Amino acid sequence: MNKISELQEKDLKYIFHPCSQMKDYEDLPPMVITKAEGIYLEDEFGNRYMDCVSSWWVNLFGHCNQRINKVITEQINKLEHVLFVNFSHEAAIELSERLYKIVPKGIEKFLFADNGSSSIEMALKLSFQYHQQTGNPQKKRFVSLANAYHGETIGALGVGDVDLFTTLYKPLIKEGIKAKGPDCFYCPYGKNFDCCEAECFENMEKIIEENHNEIASVIIEPMVQGAAGMKIYSPVYIKKLREITQKYNIHLIADEIAVGFGRTGKMFAMEHAGVSPDMICMAKGLSAGYYPMSIVGITQKIYEAFYCDYLEGKSFLHSHTYSGNPLGCRIAVEVLKIFEEENVLEIVRKKGEYLRKKAMELFKDNKNIGEYRQIGFIGAMEFVKNKDTKELFDSKERAGYEIYKIALKKGALLRPLGNIIYFMPPYTITEEEIDKMLLICKESIEEYLEKRNNK
Ligand SMILES: *Cc1c(COP(=O)(O)O)cnc(C)c1O
Repeated sequence: MNKISELQEKDLKYIFHPCSQMKDYEDLPPMVITKAEGIYLEDEFGNRYMDCVSSWWVNLFGHCNQRINKVITEQINKLEHVLFVNFSHEAAIELSERLYKIVPKGIEKFLFADNGSSSIEMALKLSFQYHQQTGNPQKKRFVSLANAYHGETIGALGVGDVDLFTTLYKPLIKEGIKAKGPDCFYCPYGKNFDCCEAECFENMEKIIEENHNEIASVIIEPMVQGAAGMKIYSPVYIKKLREITQKYNIHLIADEIAVGFGRTGKMFAMEHAGVSPDMICMAKGLSAGYYPMSIVGITQKIYEAFYCDYLEGKSFLHSHTYSGNPLGCRIAVEVLKIFEEENVLEIVRKKGEYLRKKAMELFKDNKNIGEYRQIGFIGAMEFVKNKDTKELFDSKERAGYEIYKIALKKGALLRPLGNIIYFMPPYTITEEEIDKMLLICKESIEEYLEKRNNK
């Protein structure tokens, strides 16, 4: 066991951290972050770490952002919380009005929750109930993509397909139908992005043709399957999916929790395909990493299926205590103002191009990088044993985790997903910082390989 601080000792005495094997902390104790500014986190010893993953994909405009800090302070002195049934407040109203103007066309009403998974739960329940109330009670099943990630509550796991999170809980889960989805790095059709016609849609098509009578909705992470390893796929797939779901009265739910709010270079990833979903789930960037909040946007048509006299029993009786919390709403309003006033999408596009160019230069010829791919401000690398055969490292080697530990010592928080190393920094990162991030990544990979090959 390394020498640890008093805070770390107490942490380990009381806290069970998320998504962790607590025994790993014997080797690498939790880093106690005492402050953060911009893209840097600072620990209790004064070490600074570049936050290359936006603190779990949430931070957009840097830590301790002055604009956001200011509005929280103002809001907290006015109203911190109020129940959202029968009551409302200015921040929620302003947020909804602003969202209405930027979400995909057709999304007109907003429901509030307090984290990504709960917004997924809401969307699934809404879809099920919609069909119950509109003459199709047999439509009860959900379809999602292989390797999908939609959160980790029991309902969300039903549409998820990342083995690490789902396998053990199968007996508890109401499992949806999984369609073999896009898997572009290993494309079985031998296509690349430029000539892709989403041939892989055939499995989804077959599932829908055969089961449409029973299918309530299809849920996707548009353009990028995040937790699956930042798998980027073609907008053609989404177009095809929109067409067939429309034909068979199946809801298309866009889980934009990770990709929304500019991450892919567009405000919402659905825009790449130029089509609208029936429901859209938003969280993460929505409140810029400041406050747990999520929103489900739905069409007027869905809304109307619930609108009637109370005694008809069609209300959507679902709530979360912190639904529509004023602090979260006020932050989200400011996030949208920053997008509008600071030309954020344009900046993301420019910096994205810079990141792509530099990363390609650095990693193109690396025989352990099977592919570098990027969309907007999400860049990812397939770390492989052999570029030509695309053979992976044995997952038991935990190569990603080892590289993560080396990078930390060098001052960067890179948090690989298995053997996928990715960059998802706050939009405020500068070009010099991008250079530094890439360099640390490169050196960490080299150091890992050297250690491994000398063993
Ligand atoms: C993070 C995430 C979720 C779950 O959100 P939580 O706030 O962690 O519950 C769902 N879907 C996607 C695509 C995500 O990235």
